[in-house]
Amino acid sequence: MRIYNFSAGPGMLPEEVLAEVQKKLLDYEGSGMSVMEMSHRGKHYEAINAEAEALLREIMNIPDNYAVIFVQGGATMQFEAIPLNLAKFCAGDYVVTGNFAERAYKEAVKFGDYKEVASSADRKHTYIPELNASTFRTNIDYVHICYNNTIFGTKFDKVPDTGDIPIVADMSSCILSEEYDVSKFGVIYAGAQKNAGPAGATIVIVRKDLLGNERKNCPTMLKWSTQVKEKSLYNTPPCFSTYICMLVFRWIKKNGGVKAINTINKKKAKMLYDTIDKSKFYSNKVEKAYRSIMNVPFTTPSAELDEKFIKEAAAEGLTTLKGHRLVGGMRASIYNAMPTHGVEKLAEFMKKFEKENK
Ligand code: PMP
Repeated sequence: MRIYNFSAGPGMLPEEVLAEVQKKLLDYEGSGMSVMEMSHRGKHYEAINAEAEALLREIMNIPDNYAVIFVQGGATMQFEAIPLNLAKFCAGDYVVTGNFAERAYKEAVKFGDYKEVASSADRKHTYIPELNASTFRTNIDYVHICYNNTIFGTKFDKVPDTGDIPIVADMSSCILSEEYDVSKFGVIYAGAQKNAGPAGATIVIVRKDLLGNERKNCPTMLKWSTQVKEKSLYNTPPCFSTYICMLVFRWIKKNGGVKAINTINKKKAKMLYDTIDKSKFYSNKVEKAYRSIMNVPFTTPSAELDEKFIKEAAAEGLTTLKGHRLVGGMRASIYNAMPTHGVEKLAEFMKKFEKENK
């Protein structure tokens, strides 16, 4: 029996995609082997690689002056790749809105003049700081932001104004959950394992004029320009993971694209936030304007009740609701592939639990 998995990542994959993978697992389109076993230089994988890129371009409306690559190492490896690739000035500004934004910043400072210019740490990352062009230095390579903060459940409500400075955005936990104007960003990157596919593949979308600014000693594997030139096939890529991403992109397209998925996502998030806001039992500390539609943290009145909630929810097939240790309580991650019914079931369970325990 499939359960509703509210994990922050890896997250659920569409059942339809899993069934397709299963159907073709032993013999992928007459090749007599699985995608896991075939050469990344053969015609089957080349077609998968090309379709993954083409579909992502289509569903995200990525302009032609942007390159798209699928690489390994997770979003975390991009924390290092960013200062190594964008190094005209060897300087950049970071907006620290949570744990991953901070990790990205801590990697960058190893390499040059990187500065934390804004932070939400003063209020435990429950909001996104006000930013405008004067927040940032001039003569820097980029401004780094984390668009959706997976642990704290916050999200940028708009793309900040950085003047001419390119924005580098970690979209690991929000890519494909809502429409983005890609032209407002210099670089968008995301680990696949929440909204795009399984762990293993990392999506990097980079404005082409930013390529070729890497440090002389930038390791080849971290160089975006190498991966762009080789169409993500410089070395053996995460073939199986990219294949499943391609199937997820097909699924998004078939379901009306990112716009239609976003309508569903907003409805799902509203169900949980309404349940929280209408009760005196549950609380969510995030300022309303910055609430994430992907990660919904909440608490009951006590740590004991939180524990009871998590245990009883799991018994009803609503699993992995334990909040991150930095926040406590519960966190419901409701990525694209979480069915509406799963969220309805959670909202019903929350109401029942409240009645029984208040
Ligand atoms: N950034 C964000 C916003 C994340 O949520 C995560 C993972 N939860 C990461 C970065 C790290 O990603 P990875 O594990 O793919 O390196």
